[in-house]
Amino acid sequence: MKMRGAVLFEAGLPQPYAISKPLVIEDLDIDGPGEGELLVEMAYAGLCRSDLSTIAGARPRPMPVVPGHEASGIVREVGPGVKDLKPSDHVVMVFVMSCGGCSDCVGGRPNLCGSSSGAKAKGTLISGHRRLKLNGQEINHAAGISCFAEYAVVSRGSVVKIDKDVPLEDASLFGCAVITGVGAVVNTGKVYPGADMAVVGLGGVGLNAVLGGVVCGANRIIAVDINDSKLALARELGATHTFNSTDPNALEEIRDLTDGGLEFVFEVAGAIPAWEMAYALTRRGGTLISAGLAPAKAEFSFSPYQLVSDERAIKGSYMGSSVPERDVPRFINLYKRGLLPVQKIRTATIGLEDINVGFDRLSDGEEVRQAIAFGG
Ligand code: NAD
Ligand code: ZN
Repeated sequence: MKMRGAVLFEAGLPQPYAISKPLVIEDLDIDGPGEGELLVEMAYAGLCRSDLSTIAGARPRPMPVVPGHEASGIVREVGPGVKDLKPSDHVVMVFVMSCGGCSDCVGGRPNLCGSSSGAKAKGTLISGHRRLKLNGQEINHAAGISCFAEYAVVSRGSVVKIDKDVPLEDASLFGCAVITGVGAVVNTGKVYPGADMAVVGLGGVGLNAVLGGVVCGANRIIAVDINDSKLALARELGATHTFNSTDPNALEEIRDLTDGGLEFVFEVAGAIPAWEMAYALTRRGGTLISAGLAPAKAEFSFSPYQLVSDERAIKGSYMGSSVPERDVPRFINLYKRGLLPVQKIRTATIGLEDINVGFDRLSDGEEVRQAIAFGG
């Protein structure tokens, strides 16, 4: 079948992307689904900083690739062996393919599925196949999803079925921004009612961490960014205090306010200065939890002595330590009750042809989550 999709041929082109155009809209061929796979027609796809890092060259991926890993859509065809989904089902896509059979999957940590990470590194689906072609040449998949295209063939473990009454434009956010940000607080941090926490980096993922703090009943939720417009949205979503970290007094002011720091500090910028700020904001016994994906070669240094003597901890959070089949419905239920107003984080809806401008806007901090509407 033929479809339109955005292909990244070369990473690291200069900004503005509106001029260098790293993403090229092409007429691609997409194969039908193989064993354990399904064909999904895309409804909405979100622009995440992880895609931007790939476009910028900070996160090397096999090229050429159709990026995109946060989406909602409608199942159009199921391959052999897929028994629990059928055409017309609505789904959210998640960026770990999870095979369901490895020790991490059966151990309750499908976000760490080794088969999925191996396939991701090669640019294939979990079956080892690529289902995308351009003029006969195979194109790589991104995170087993490649949702910056009208259709995707994905592994069964990449999707979670959702109720048809969930608006698809809101549903797409659950596949990355919500599951990562809310999950980091609820699952990785296990923030408890009355705890104090901070979030450093208030994009689509970080603002979901703020929402996660609200649903956990956190006492103080301190939101930090370098961009004042993000601070205003964080306050609207439930942050109790906001600080611009470009203010040289911000760190000391937060320490004063919190009597020396916080028990939980979430780094969600994916930048080393944000890591430094976040670690400095932990109190004795506190934990820095990072969901931000810093550039692949970046390094962060800390004092092992202080870490031990203060019983501090540093923890990574990948896909919010989530079990998608458990957490996507759980977070959608909170959204339906109005407790997770994730739709406020979607600040723009764009067409596929505007994708390069969209990434300029994400990079410049002008937008939070932008959704591509496929308008099917
Ligand atoms: P975004 O660009 O929307 O938001 C990042 C925010 O960080 C921006 O508001 C920016 O102003 C702010 N920021 C930058 N430097 C800062 C600093 N020094 N101090 C404070 N704030 C700073 O990005 P996003 O889509 O929300 O993604 C955030 C990060 O999470 C990225 O690194 C992304 O790759 C990563 N991510 C991780 C996972 C995971 O599973 N761990 C999943 C999705 C995204
Ligand atoms: Zn993402």
